[in-house]
Amino acid sequence: MTNSNGRPNPSIGCSVEQCQYHYGAQDFCSLDKIQIGTHEQNPTVNQCTDCQSFQPKQ
Ligand code: SF4
Repeated sequence: MTNSNGRPNPSIGCSVEQCQYHYGAQDFCSLDKIQIGTHEQNPTVNQCTDCQSFQPKQ
C-alpha cells in the first residue's frame, strides 16, 4: 500500500501510520523533505519535538 507520493524516502524513517505521508508498507516517510519543530520553549527530550509536516489521512 502506498500513498499519493508513491515511494519511501529511506532518509526519513517514520512509524506514524496515521499520517497521509507515511509510506504504508514500510516505516518511512514518502516526502522528500519534512519540517521538524517544537511546541516547547525549552525542549529537553525527544517528546518535545514534532513533525510539522504531519497531515492526517483523509
Ligand atoms: S510527514 Fe512526518 S509524520 Fe508524516 S510520515 Fe512524514 S515524517 Fe512521518
